[in-house]
Amino acid sequence: MASFDPASVECPAAHLIGGRIVRAEGVIPLRRPSDGRDFAQCPIADASTVDAAVSAARVALAESDWGGIRPRERTRALHRWADLIEVEAENLARLEAVASTRPISELLAGDLPVTVEQIRFFAEFADKEGGAVAPTAEDSLGLITSEPHGVVGAITPWNFPLSMAAWKIAPALAAGNAVVLKPSELTPFATLRMAELSVKAGLPPGLVAVVLGDGPTTGAALVAHPDVAKVSFTGSTAAGAAIMANIARSGVKPMTLELGGKSPQVVFADADIDLAAASIAGSVLANAGQACVAGTRLVVEAPVADVLVEKIIARLRSIRPGPTWDAATAFAPIISERQLGRVDGIVRAALAAGAEALVGGQRLDRDGSFYAPTVLAGVEASSPAVTDEIFGPVLTVQTFVDEDEALRLADHPSYGLAAGLFTRDLSRALRVTRRLHAGTVWVNRYGRSRDHILPTGGFKGSGIGKDLGREAYQANRRSKSVLISFQ
Ligand code: NAD
Repeated sequence: MASFDPASVECPAAHLIGGRIVRAEGVIPLRRPSDGRDFAQCPIADASTVDAAVSAARVALAESDWGGIRPRERTRALHRWADLIEVEAENLARLEAVASTRPISELLAGDLPVTVEQIRFFAEFADKEGGAVAPTAEDSLGLITSEPHGVVGAITPWNFPLSMAAWKIAPALAAGNAVVLKPSELTPFATLRMAELSVKAGLPPGLVAVVLGDGPTTGAALVAHPDVAKVSFTGSTAAGAAIMANIARSGVKPMTLELGGKSPQVVFADADIDLAAASIAGSVLANAGQACVAGTRLVVEAPVADVLVEKIIARLRSIRPGPTWDAATAFAPIISERQLGRVDGIVRAALAAGAEALVGGQRLDRDGSFYAPTVLAGVEASSPAVTDEIFGPVLTVQTFVDEDEALRLADHPSYGLAAGLFTRDLSRALRVTRRLHAGTVWVNRYGRSRDHILPTGGFKGSGIGKDLGREAYQANRRSKSVLISFQ
């Protein structure tokens, strides 16, 4: 039985530095979103602790020659790490479930196996992705080679902590780098344990470090550290912009930024309406809308709007909320009371401005921070419900009469992370896909598959660069052009 007693899970305040767990004083009180009880405290690594982790990572790189060994050895070490995570999946799932919004059943069936798969996926790049011989004049040899950056500084959000950490650590290690990672201060414990398993798997101690702490102190010290050669960040657009500014104050370094979104779901009248309803409701319900790619703006052709919305609502009514440690739970809490207040504030402002809640519109009447799946109709295009990333289970409905209007409504002035498109017309699917300003377009489905080769990343304010796919591996190496003249 996957259900467990949350009191049985210990979450020690600590960092992983130089391959060793270093206990620290917990200063940020953490509350379980499922029942509002205090359960642990997160330490805040200061600049000297971050420096110790970065220095140990540099030493580990130098002493193990991790970037210079036969690449297959890196592959094998990463597979060993993935194997240990698989063996310890239940423990990791409990550590994650107790602190986060991820229900234990979903962690065991989804997050954990996917995390393991993603590490194995990147492990295989180490000895397969090479350089090129460039076409140059006959009296020369042009080579395009690549090499690791050195120490990569990574920062992750709270919404899918383990797989977000794997997205950062696995390609960086496969490419020959060390990683110092700062997980979200709200959900650090499973990530810490997962990183500790890398040492048990035989990776050089110090190569993977985890420093716990907040953004302004720990995160800021990490990205600005002079020995951090590359930054890989996933989080909000505001924090991404702050990181760019912080780095720019002391210099320039490459960075990958995976940021926020406000993704549209465009449904044409010829679509399979049942399929569209299932996909759209699934996206609103997944992690209670707390996903960067949550498709929370429905843009639907007017004649099918009522029937589609009715089918979506039927699905939204069938939620199974509960504590994340209960195996029967299939609807997540909101991460914190503060975030729930923000979701509710946006919904209330929309209602006050004349929108109608077709379902939901308030918190659920039960323990913990749960918000009712909500559908808002009659919303102004300028309403924060339509323009702002809500990070809650809230869907807005807008209708269109033709393709141009659909594209106008689908486009967001500053976000471009993902978009959904539902139509049976192949020509339209291809035409509209080209015109949608988003880093990912899902046609007649919504959400990722387990095809990790498909990169993910945003246009506009949704980010710079890609996670997953070949691009994520390549971003962890820097390319070098070599031209050799013959005598
Ligand atoms: P957040 O931006 O508040 O925090 C993310 C991480 O950044 C945390 O570890 C935080 O401590 C750190 N941080 C915050 N300010 C910082 C600063 N000035 N310097 C350095 N580090 C800083 O985001 P969140 O609330 O944890 O996560 C939700 C956000 O993440 C949403 O906007 C969501 O869309 C985005 N997200 C994007 C993707 C993607 O792939 N594009 C995936 C998941 C989440």
